Amino acid sequence: MMIVMQPDATADEVAAVVARLRGAGADVTVVTEGGRTVVSGTTEGRLQDEAPWKDLPGVERVVPSVRGGRRVGRGYRHEDTVVMVGDVPIGDGSLTIIAGPCAVESREQLLRTAGAVKAAGAHILRGDAFKPRTSPYTFQGLGKAGLECLAEARELTGMPFVAEVLDPRDVEMVASYADMIRIGARNMSNHALLREVGRQPKPVQLKRGRAATVEEWVDAAEYIYNEGNTRIVMVERGVRAFDPSVRNMLDISAVPLIEQRTHLPIVVDPSHAAGRRDLVPALAKAAVAAGADGIMVDVHPEPHEALVDGSQALRPEAFADLVGELQAVARAVGRRV
Ligand code: PEP
Ligand code: MN
Repeated sequence: MMIVMQPDATADEVAAVVARLRGAGADVTVVTEGGRTVVSGTTEGRLQDEAPWKDLPGVERVVPSVRGGRRVGRGYRHEDTVVMVGDVPIGDGSLTIIAGPCAVESREQLLRTAGAVKAAGAHILRGDAFKPRTSPYTFQGLGKAGLECLAEARELTGMPFVAEVLDPRDVEMVASYADMIRIGARNMSNHALLREVGRQPKPVQLKRGRAATVEEWVDAAEYIYNEGNTRIVMVERGVRAFDPSVRNMLDISAVPLIEQRTHLPIVVDPSHAAGRRDLVPALAKAAVAAGADGIMVDVHPEPHEALVDGSQALRPEAFADLVGELQAVARAVGRRV
C-alpha cells in the first residue's frame, strides 16, 4: 500500500503514519519527491483496506497494494482491459490496425495517405504534428496546423487518430484534437509528461523506451494509471541493440510478457523497429502470430519524398497487401477478423 501525504504534511504526521504501518508489521519505505512524501508499506491481506489510513492527519490518498505490486498488473485486475479509441476497440480479441505517415507534412500528403489506409482496412490513423527528432535542425512537425489536418482527415474518413505529444504544456491542446495521445519512446521515462497524460481523459499509447526493460516500461504505465487514466495501450517498437542491420531490434517476447504481466493491450510498431520497409511485413506478421492486439505501421504515398522516416514507410499498395496477410495470420491464431 502507498500512502501519499499532503504536500504540507508535517514531519510528525509522516512519522505517525510510518509508526502505525510498522506497528502493523509492514516493511516501510519513505520517499520524498518534489516536496511530497509517499510512505510505502509491504502490506498483505488484513492491511489492504484503505479505510483506517485515509483519515489520518496529513494523508492525501491511499493507493492500495496489489499482488504483483502494480495496478496495471494482472494481480490487480484479471480481465483484459479493452481500450476504446473513438468507436474502435483495442484489446477485445480483434486485430486493430493503425496506419498513416510518421509525420503530417502537408494537408495533401495526409489526406491522400488517410484515404489509402482506410481503403486498405486500417481502423485508426496515425500522423504526428510534433516530432521528436534527433537533430534540432530537421523537420520538427507542423504543430497545431498538423492537428487541424488530422481532424479534417478524421472528418473525411471516419477514422479516429493518434498523435504524439512531447511537452506537458501541449497535452491539453493535443488532447482537444486527438482521439488518442502517444508517448514516444524518448519520453517513456518522462514522469511529468506521464502524469500529465494520466490526468486527461483521452486514451494513451505508451511506447517502450529505446533501452527500457519490460519492467521499466510497465512501471511507466503505472505512472499514468495512478493519475486516474486507465485507458493505456502498450506499444513495442524495438530496443537498441548491437546490430546495425536494423534500426532497433524488435522484441517479440515483449508481446506475451506484457500479456502475462499486465491487463493492458499490446500493439507492435514494426516500422520504427526495423527502420526499413522490406522487413516490416515479416515483423508485423510475427507480432500478430505472437498475440499482439494491434499493429501500427508507417505508410507514405511517396516514401522517397518523406520528410521523416521515408525508408521505413510502406507504399499504400504494399500496405493493402500486408493487411490481407495480417488478417490471415490473425485468423490462424484465433483472433476475430
Ligand atoms: C513514431 O512513432 O513516430 C516515433 C517517433 O516512434 P518512437 O517513439 O518509437 O521512436
Ligand atoms: Mn517516425
